[in-house]
Amino acid sequence: AAKRSSGNDFIVYEPGLGNTTSTRKDSTAELAAAIDAGELRTVYQPLIDMRTGRPIGAEALVRWQHPVDGLRSPDQFIGLAEESGLITRIGELVLGDACTQAALWVAESPDQEDLLVTVNLSARQVADEQIVEQVSAALAASGLEPHRLVLEITETVLMHDRDAAAATLWLLKGLGVRIAIDDFGTGYSSLAYLRRFPIDMLKVAREFVDGLGRDAHDDVITRAIVELAGTLGLLTVAEGVETTQQSETVAALGCDIAQGYLFSRPIEADAVSAVMSASLVAAHLRPRPVDLGR
Ligand code: C2E
Ligand code: MG
Ligand code: MG
Ligand code: MG
Repeated sequence: AAKRSSGNDFIVYEPGLGNTTSTRKDSTAELAAAIDAGELRTVYQPLIDMRTGRPIGAEALVRWQHPVDGLRSPDQFIGLAEESGLITRIGELVLGDACTQAALWVAESPDQEDLLVTVNLSARQVADEQIVEQVSAALAASGLEPHRLVLEITETVLMHDRDAAAATLWLLKGLGVRIAIDDFGTGYSSLAYLRRFPIDMLKVAREFVDGLGRDAHDDVITRAIVELAGTLGLLTVAEGVETTQQSETVAALGCDIAQGYLFSRPIEADAVSAVMSASLVAAHLRPRPVDLGR
C-alpha cells in the first residue's frame, strides 16, 4: 500500500470552493493513496421487484472508508475522481466488486432468474473507450452472465458527446450488458435519444418519486414515464422510495422495480445475500394495487 499522510493535515476537495491547483493536487494524491490502501469499497442497495415484493438485485454504490474522517459519500469525491482521471481506477474496482458479488448471489439464489446488478458510469468513463475492455474483463473474471449487468448513465452524460457516447454504448451493448438511464427526467427533455441509444431501463428520478401520492404533477410525470417505457419495451425503476404511500403509487402506476430507504439503505454485500436468498422483505412492504382513478 502507498504511504499516506495521517491526521487532519490534508484539505478536502470541495467543488467551487477555493480549489486551487495545489489543493486539488493534494486531494488527488490522497484519493490515489486511498485507492492503493484499499479504503474504497462497494455497498449495495437492494432493488425490489414490484410484481413479487422480493429483491431482484442491487445497485452498486462506492464508499470511501477514510481512516480519520470515517465514511465519505461519493458526492464528496466522484467529482475529483472525474477531473483527475482516477475514476477509471475506481470504476474498475466497483465493476469488479459488483460482478463478483452478483455472480455469488446468482449461485446462492438459483431461483432468482431475473437477478441483476447495476453499476454507475460517469461522463469520463463513457468517454473513455477503455470502459469496454474493463466491463468485458470484469464479466470474464467473475463469470457473470452479461445480461445481469446493467450500466447506469445519466442523460447529461449521453448528451455530452453524443457520437462518442453512442459508439461506446453500442460496443457495450455488443457485450450483452444492459443500459439504464439514471435520474431520468432531470436532464435533457429530448426523448429522441431513447431511439438512438441502446437503452433497456429508465430510472425515475427521486425528485418525481418524492411527491407520489401527494403531488398530482409527480403522479402524472411518473405515469407518463412508465407508459413511455412500456411503449418502448423498457424496464422502469422508481428511485428514492421512502414511504409506503410512494411504494403503493409506484406499484399502481406499473413501475417494474423500486429502490429506496423504505426497503433498504445501501448495505454490505453479505447483507444483500441474506435478503436475496431468504426473501426477508416484510409482508407489509409488498406492493398492493391502488385505485388512482385512471
Ligand atoms: P445515484 O446513482 O442516483 O444513486 C442513488 C443515490 O440515492 C445513492 O446515494 C443512494 O444511497 C441514494 N438513495 C437511495 N435511496 C434513497 C432514498 O430513499 N432517499 C434518499 N434521500 N436517498 C436515497 P450515494 O450512494 O451517496 O450516491 C450518490 C451518487 O454518486 C449516485 O447517485 C451516483 O451518481 C454517484 N455514484 C455512486 N457510486 C458510484 C460509482 O461507483 N461510480 C460512479 N461513477 N458514480 C457513483
Ligand atoms: Mg445510479
Ligand atoms: Mg439515480
Ligand atoms: Mg446520479
